[in-house]
Amino acid sequence: MKPNTEFVPDEWNIKNSYGEIVVNKLCETNIPGLFAAGDVTDIPYKQIGIAVGQGIIAALSVVNYINRNL
Ligand SMILES: Cc1cc2nc3c(=O)[nH]c(=O)nc-3n(C[C@H](O)[C@H](O)[C@H](O)COP(=O)(O)OP(=O)(O)OC[C@H]3O[C@@H](n4cnc5c(N)ncnc54)[C@H](O)[C@@H]3O)c2cc1C
Repeated sequence: MKPNTEFVPDEWNIKNSYGEIVVNKLCETNIPGLFAAGDVTDIPYKQIGIAVGQGIIAALSVVNYINRNL
């Protein structure tokens, strides 16, 4: 139940008090170009189907980000 997010520096300010990475519905963090999906995020209900769905959302968001910015 403890998210393995120690590799994310606290200074980035993208984690909540539980150590989960906070994302919006597009799996975007507060840092442009940085996305997260699955159990490490603050989405409720840590389940395989939810992690897979978030992975798809994150991948599509990455494509959109690249198309808009590069
Ligand atoms: C005991 C148990 C039973 C469960 N039973 C069910 C169930 O019946 N049904 C269900 O839907 N869900 C179940 N779950 C939850 C399900 O396993 C998770 O929701 C799902 O695996 C989340 O997928 P994920 O890709 O987000 O994370 P994970 O599957 O945890 O994958 C994260 C990956 O990142 C790797 N990693 C970690 N740190 C680093 C790093 N610094 N650098 C590189 N790689 C790293 C890890 O080794 C791991 O391979 C269960 C979980 C547990 C613990």
